Amino acid sequence: MKIDLHCHSFYSDGTQSPEFLVQRAAENQLTHLAITDHDCIAGLNNLPADLMGVSIIKGVEISCGWQSIEVHIVGLFIDPDNHDLTLLLESQQGARHLRVEQMHKNLAELGIKGLMGYLEALPAIAYTRSQVADFLVEQKVCKTKQKSFKTHLAKGGKIYVAPDWCHLETGISAIKSAGGLAVLAHPGRYPINKTTLAELVTAFTLCGGEALESRYPNIDLKMIKQIETLAEVNGLYLSAGSDFHTAAAHWTDVGKFPALETSNKKGIWLHPKWQGELQI
Ligand code: AMP
Ligand code: MN
Ligand code: MN
Ligand code: MN
Repeated sequence: MKIDLHCHSFYSDGTQSPEFLVQRAAENQLTHLAITDHDCIAGLNNLPADLMGVSIIKGVEISCGWQSIEVHIVGLFIDPDNHDLTLLLESQQGARHLRVEQMHKNLAELGIKGLMGYLEALPAIAYTRSQVADFLVEQKVCKTKQKSFKTHLAKGGKIYVAPDWCHLETGISAIKSAGGLAVLAHPGRYPINKTTLAELVTAFTLCGGEALESRYPNIDLKMIKQIETLAEVNGLYLSAGSDFHTAAAHWTDVGKFPALETSNKKGIWLHPKWQGELQI
């Protein structure tokens, strides 16, 4: 078994089609792949006919607010036709649309035109700051994507617009209503200390969250241990994913991250939902 339970297509801020993701997963000998676009499930309705032997898990990554920070919740095994989930994703996509429209206005004030036209020409259903960063590089406003975030898109940046996401509890509820399993994405990437991370995991568990991502690119051993301890204390499963966005970033290739061993006693494949839906 080789899994990747977190990746993006061009229906949000990835650069590739779902077909490419499936091909890449097959090339990299994956058995299971979850497509988890930001606040969007269009990729799940646009899969290739030939899945090349890869089991596809239907997923989504929902941006949520918790206290003063933003956290990402991956939903796995979701029913894409569920009404509650559909309504929430429409609302999140609406918030994303309003956010980029405000960025468009902020850019126009700096004399930079055309953001909305650029975005509307993409296959994306859900807009993120990542595509805005690409626009700034294309327009030669910024030299690199990284610099775009630093000078323009991060909090305090020239065109920053605060997001308006649903609450953590709302995101998890919608995933559960759609029959899904809620996973806290990349817990070590939030700008919080160890104590606050433990509080976040407690809140996540109380809301019905069931797993923590414990393997993803660039995670260090110390963080893996911290996450595994939090999973143990809260009775959660462990998940793993590349957070793939583009083949250009080879360090986040599909399936590329420290392995979550098949022998792991907390592996998410041991969850009844996985056992019920898939064969290992
Ligand atoms: P948003 O959900 O609109 O806030 O956009 C966040 C997305 O931008 C993330 O999902 C990443 O794909 C991307 N991103 C965030 N920070 C950076 C960064 N420093 N450099 C490159 N991409 C980033
Ligand atoms: Mn992204
Ligand atoms: Mn994320
Ligand atoms: Mn992601």
